[in-house]
This record gives sequence, structure tokens and C-alpha cells, in this order.
Amino acid sequence: MISLVVPVYNEENLVDELIRRSLKVLTELPMEYEILLVDDGSQDSTLAKLLQHRNKNNRIKIIALSRNFGHQAAFTAGLEYAKGDYIAMMDGDLQDPPELINKMYLKLKSGEFDIINGKRKSKKEKINRKIITSVFHKLFTKVSGFREIENVGNFSMMNRNALNGLLALKEKIRYLPGMRSFVGFKQGFVEYVREERKEGKSKMSIWKLFALGADAIFSFSKLPLRICLFLGIIGIVVFLFAGIYVLIAKIFGFAVLGWSSTLLSIYFLGSIQLTFLGVLGEYVFRSYKESQNRPVYLVKEIFDD
Ligand code: UDP
Ligand code: MG
Repeated sequence: MISLVVPVYNEENLVDELIRRSLKVLTELPMEYEILLVDDGSQDSTLAKLLQHRNKNNRIKIIALSRNFGHQAAFTAGLEYAKGDYIAMMDGDLQDPPELINKMYLKLKSGEFDIINGKRKSKKEKINRKIITSVFHKLFTKVSGFREIENVGNFSMMNRNALNGLLALKEKIRYLPGMRSFVGFKQGFVEYVREERKEGKSKMSIWKLFALGADAIFSFSKLPLRICLFLGIIGIVVFLFAGIYVLIAKIFGFAVLGWSSTLLSIYFLGSIQLTFLGVLGEYVFRSYKESQNRPVYLVKEIFDD
């Protein structure tokens, strides 16, 4: 069986087309299927619409979360529930074309790969999002050391083995594309053009996008800490020489009352310290979050057979 996992949050105007196009692709595959739609606490009629579709076709299964947990959590809920031998994950706004599932399936089926990632050749998105996401992807590829991850998002398909690997990662702060790289296995790619969202506004505000990027970088890299350490060491060296100069100046009596230089160095050091504390705080916060051990999502109701 093949499982398609799709998170949806306030997508009432999209679910009809989403389900129509997904069904078309899935019914053409020589395999059983299930569509797992995770309603991430929508406030509009998304859930009601999903239920209407389920009435017509009980291979459409719905996991309704108790509130909005964010789309990485929603994906996680669906992945944990999926029963297929092949499991695809796809955004629900049709930016990722369901038709590509066919191609991913064939590649996976050949047995050569365990995970097939959708790689974005180009994106039809607003310019500011395009810039933010491509800077993030460049940076994340560098700091995480996962070479293959550039321009790869959630859209992907994997076999049971790889999914079990992914589900073994129990961290609470989740960036699934990074985690999918982390588990290894044999990773393949299919390229595609990321369409514009079919309808409505992005449910990931710029702020949420930054938060997701920070989660990704802080959970897969110690580079931010390294940068702090490195700058700290440079600072020590610089101020050692500066200190020697000040002492010499004092001894030989050509020290002037340097109000501005004192103030500038206080400001400078103060801001560096605050930045470093902020970076440390990010890690402390994350380890606090992990140790709280709260569930990633809570289910209100599951609509299955
Ligand atoms: N989504 C979700 N919960 C959220 C935000 C988004 O389940 O809190 C879903 C959304 O309905 C869509 C997918 O995740 O199916 C991707 O979201 P979106 O298209 O808004 O993000 P973008 O593509 O702009 O990054
Ligand atoms: Mg989108």
C-alpha cells in the first residue's frame, strides 16, 4: 500500500481540487492507497469538507489535531499513522504537484533508492519568499553538511524502512527535510517546478518561516556556537594587544583621556555579549523544550474505518 500524507490548515477552498488530483494519481498506481489528511486545527470548513470526501471514499482518512500545531507536527502525525509500504509527504496547497507522485513511485519501486526527494528546479513564488528560502537553503546546506538537501522541502516519498528510521528520531523540535537527510539510506531525486500556491495566502507567515529556519539550523548545526567561540577568541587577542598598548601608553605618559574610545568599546563588547547570550539561549531553550518531553501534537479525533 501507498500512503499519502498531507497537512492542511484552513484550506477550505483547496481541498476539493487537492483530493481530486491526488485521487487521480493514486488510483492509477498499481497499488492500494490511503490518503491521510491531517487537519492542523483549521478554523474554517476544511474539516467538514474533508469529511464529505471521506463519506464518498473511505480510503481518505482524516486525523484532526486538537489545535494548530504547525505543519511539521502535522506531517509527523500523518507519518506516524501511515500504514503504507511507500509513504509520500506533500503540502496541501498544490505547490507540490500530486502528479509527481507517479514519478517518485517508479523511482522508489526500482529498488535502487529508499527515499526520493522532490528537488525544486525553480519556484513560482513571491520574490521576498524566494530570496528568504534560497538564502536559507544555501546556509542550511553549508552548516548541516547535508549536501543533498539544497532546494529540497517536505515533498518526498520513502519506503517503510526509511520511514521507520525517520520515526526513530524522537526530537520535539522537528525539521523533517533535515531529519530525512540525517537518516541516510539511499537518497534519490526528482526535479520539479514549485508552482504558486493555488489559492489563498501562505499559512506560513514570514515569521513562522524564520522560526522554522532557526529550528533547522540550531538543531542540525553547532556552527552558531562555533562562531561565538571564534569571535570570542579573536576578541581576546585583539584586546590583549590593546591592553599592552594602553599599559605602554600609561607608563610612558602619553595616555589621553579617551572618552569616546572607551564608550565605543563598551558598546561593542556589550552587543557582542548580548548576541552570544542570545545564541546560547537558543540552545538552552531547545534543550529545555526537549527535556519537557511534551507530545509533538495531540489528536482530537481520527476518522478511519
Ligand atoms: N500548514 C499546516 N499547519 C500550519 C501551517 C501550514 O498544516 O500551521 C499546511 C498548509 O495547509 C499547507 C502546508 O502546510 O498544506 C504548507 O503550508 P504553506 O503553503 O502555507 O507554506 P509555504 O508553502 O508558504 O511555505
Ligand atoms: Mg505553500
